[in-house]
Parts: sequence; C-alpha cells; structure tokens
Amino acid sequence: MAKIMVTGGAGFIGSHLCEKLLNDGHRVICLDNLCTGTSENIAHLSNNKNFTYLQHDIIKPLTTKEEIDYLFHLASPASPVDYQRLPVETLLTGSSGTHNALELAKEKDATFLLASSSEVYGDPTIHPQPESYWGNVNPIGPRSCYDEAKRFAEALTMAYHRKHGLDVRIARIFNTYGPRMRKEDGRAIPNFITQALANEPITVYGDGSQTRSFCYISDMVDGICRAMFSNGAEGEVINLGNPDEVTIRELAEKVKKLINSDSEIAFKALPQDDPKRRCPDIFKAKEILNWEPKVDLDAGLNKTIK
Ligand code: UDP
Repeated sequence: MAKIMVTGGAGFIGSHLCEKLLNDGHRVICLDNLCTGTSENIAHLSNNKNFTYLQHDIIKPLTTKEEIDYLFHLASPASPVDYQRLPVETLLTGSSGTHNALELAKEKDATFLLASSSEVYGDPTIHPQPESYWGNVNPIGPRSCYDEAKRFAEALTMAYHRKHGLDVRIARIFNTYGPRMRKEDGRAIPNFITQALANEPITVYGDGSQTRSFCYISDMVDGICRAMFSNGAEGEVINLGNPDEVTIRELAEKVKKLINSDSEIAFKALPQDDPKRRCPDIFKAKEILNWEPKVDLDAGLNKTIK
C-alpha cells in the first residue's frame, strides 16, 4: 500500500484517478479548492477509510505530517471556458501551485507526476505531435494563461529533476472525456451531448474541419498510473491520448446519431487561436509504458451519454 497525494483530486480526471488508486489498495489524500472540481465527484469515496479529502488551494504552500510516496499534480482549470474565466488563477496554479507541489514532493522524497497538456504544442505545425516537438504557442493570446502555465510547470518540474535529483515524470494529456465532465464545462463532448439530448442546435465552432483525438477516461487514468509507476519513465515527458483523430463536424454528427437526436448543426464563430489539428504520437507511451488506449470513440461516447 502506497501513500499517495492527488492535487485536483475532485476534478474530472482527478476523481477517477483517486478511485482507481483506492481500488488498487492505496491510501489517497485528495487535495482540491473546488474552483472547477466538485464534492459530488468524490462523494462516493468519502466513506473509504483510506481516503482523505483536504480542501486547499495549492497556490498556498502546504505542510502535512503525512508521509507521501507519490504525488500526482493535476490541479488546474483545464477547459478553455474555465481557464479563460480564471486566467490569473490558472497562471498561478501552474507556477506557484506547481512550485508548492514540487517542494512537498522534495520534502517527502515522493515521486512526482505533472499532469501537463497537449496545449504545450499550441496550434501545432507538425502532425501528429511527438514529445520532441517544441510547439507553436501564442504567448499573449486568450489560451496563453493555460498554455504558458503548463509550459512553465514542465520547465520547473525538469529544474527540480536536474537540480535536486527529484524523481519526476511529465504526462502530456490530450483531449479526454467520460462520465463526471460537467455539462456546462464548455468543451465539445459535454456540449454536444447536452445539446443533442435536448434536441437543441449542436454548436460547431468554425466550419468544424478542425480535428481532435479523444481518449476515454479509463484509458487515460491507466496511462497516468503507468507513467507514475513505471521505472523507465523517470525524467521523461510522455504523450497520453487516443491517436484516433476526428473532425469536430464528424464528432457532432456521431453524437447526434448515437442519441438519435433531431438537433440541427449550428455553426458559430471559431474562437481565437483554436488549434486546427491535434493528434498525439504515442510511440513513447507504447515503448516505455506498454500503454495504448482500448476504448473506441463510439463505445466511450455511449458510456458518457448514459
Ligand atoms: N468546440 C465546438 N463547439 C463547442 C465546444 C467546442 O465546435 O460547443 C470545438 C472547439 O472550438 C475545438 C474543439 O471543439 O476546436 C475541442 O474543443 P474543447 O473545448 O473540447 O477542447 P480543446 O481541445 O479546445 O481544449
């Protein structure tokens, strides 16, 4: 049984991660300030004797008497709607929050995993994106509060690895979906499902030719755990995502069909700096973690719709 801390543990990915770690027999301390996470996400875990919830904003330093063997640092707003509503908080979470999490990991001699993002690639000019690609980010655009926060967090994590010898791993998480995404979080899949179920227009931004590659939550949580617990991942940055690429127009049509909805497709303005294509190169995850996604888009969407 390992002692594990998860920052952002009441969020969408965080709560599924806490659940898996508890099911695997570990002790879990879940940290969240509930700025985008919810207590409902972890309500079903609260009676587990191995689960502790701490309401804390990781922007503020954290001390605890508890031992920590592994620290998963997931805390941050992650939906474009959320991080553009909370731009300063997002930058401070990526910078001061990551600093506080790294300091705690150093003090406890814990293995540290940073949840980074495919947004570090910005609007990529290389396709699919391997980890060796340095990205194409607008440093002052509306997405910069998130993109630069994650890029800074990656740099800080590598600085702790080089300077202090801390055992770190960086997972670059691509679009992920599944149960417990908030209906109003603004992302494509929850928006489309909610709209299709209500027979309201499905809002496709731009002409819908931009692409994404969507990974189901159980696959993602499995990948994140392997990135933390595999020996070969120390000091590595690893893409985690499903390489099955779809256009947003195709996604809208698919959701409509699976729900058997009468919704029409309504085209809206494309947000500034919206990445045109995104697809992970997962060669490294296959090699180092022996991981690749198993759940296809239709199966994952059906579970999410339910
Ligand atoms: N999108 C859309 N309609 C919506 C929400 C999002 O067409 O109601 C588009 C968005 O412009 C982007 C893609 O779907 O091109 C994925 O957006 P999301 O917010 O899910 O995540 P992102 O990959 O941008 O972080």
